[in-house]
Amino acid sequence: EAKNDLRRPWRAYQQSMSERAVSRFALRNDLSTALAGNALSLHYQPVVDMKTGGVVAFEALSRWQHPLQGAIPPDSFVPLAEETGLIVPLGRWALRQAVADFEHLRQLATPPCRLLRVAVNVSALQLAEPDFTADVAAVLESSGMAPASLCLEITESSVIDGTGRTLEALRDLKSMGVSLAIDDFGTGHSALSYLPDMPFDVLKVDKSFIDTINTSTARAEIVRGIVGMAAAVGMRVVAEGIETREQAQLLREASCHYGQGYLYSKPLPLAKAVSEFGPAQEPKPPQARANNGHH
Ligand code: C2E
Ligand code: MG
Ligand code: MG
Ligand code: MG
Repeated sequence: EAKNDLRRPWRAYQQSMSERAVSRFALRNDLSTALAGNALSLHYQPVVDMKTGGVVAFEALSRWQHPLQGAIPPDSFVPLAEETGLIVPLGRWALRQAVADFEHLRQLATPPCRLLRVAVNVSALQLAEPDFTADVAAVLESSGMAPASLCLEITESSVIDGTGRTLEALRDLKSMGVSLAIDDFGTGHSALSYLPDMPFDVLKVDKSFIDTINTSTARAEIVRGIVGMAAAVGMRVVAEGIETREQAQLLREASCHYGQGYLYSKPLPLAKAVSEFGPAQEPKPPQARANNGHH
């Protein structure tokens, strides 16, 4: 009896392992179907100027609505896509979609004359593809979008684990005029020393730092240090995952210029972002109205 009791958890474990393998296999097929069938979409989260509250950028975040399992978070399907190589077509799709949506997003800058960027997350596997930079150039060329309006976000760990090819691709993108951001900064074994040699314009401080910024003055000082160091090498800083006014205040005191987080807005579908951040609907001038018989 006792023996059986001891075995049971192991059996349950074995069973759940094989179930997991099956469901991962199924999920991988589903993801490739989703990619082929337009079941993926992008949501957009604003990046704001912390002093003025103006919108300076939108980050594109992929969303997958599974027909049976409902919304699957990117923290689950992006690693799956990376394991299976599907991240390459997924990333190509996200880049094209975001560039197409830029036409609508660019009008949401506050003040309106300001350059607005759209930020797209890029996997290390995409950067390692020999034709990645050429593909970015082709997308920009065919859309007519200014390279400076596009920001590509690469996680700190991708950069640290990257090869010579990664750095070469980043330098090529930079020389094309594309803006580059280092994402999730502070989650890897951050080595500050490599930053001055890297072509990044923007440093995104990970949410884990922002979560604890109000727990001690030492933690706030660390963020202040990161902002100062980034500024010294010519980078601008975005704080990720700001949820409270207190965090925003501490970040302003730490001279952090830009912020992103639920305090300002959750990621929104394009239409919602446009209605939420667009200029108040102005009455159309008479000549723009449809001809309805009046002269
Ligand atoms: P990320 O690039 O660091 O994006 C920020 C994540 O934090 C997003 O999660 C966003 O929804 C979430 N977030 C923003 N503000 C707050 C906040 O105030 N509180 C909380 N709790 N969360 C906040 P999301 O959309 O689930 O994406 C997770 C990660 O998946 C992204 O992290 C990014 O690394 C990856 N990802 C998403 N879309 C793509 C894509 O198209 N390509 C690639 N390669 N990765 C993607
Ligand atoms: Mg990102
Ligand atoms: Mg991040
Ligand atoms: Mg992240």
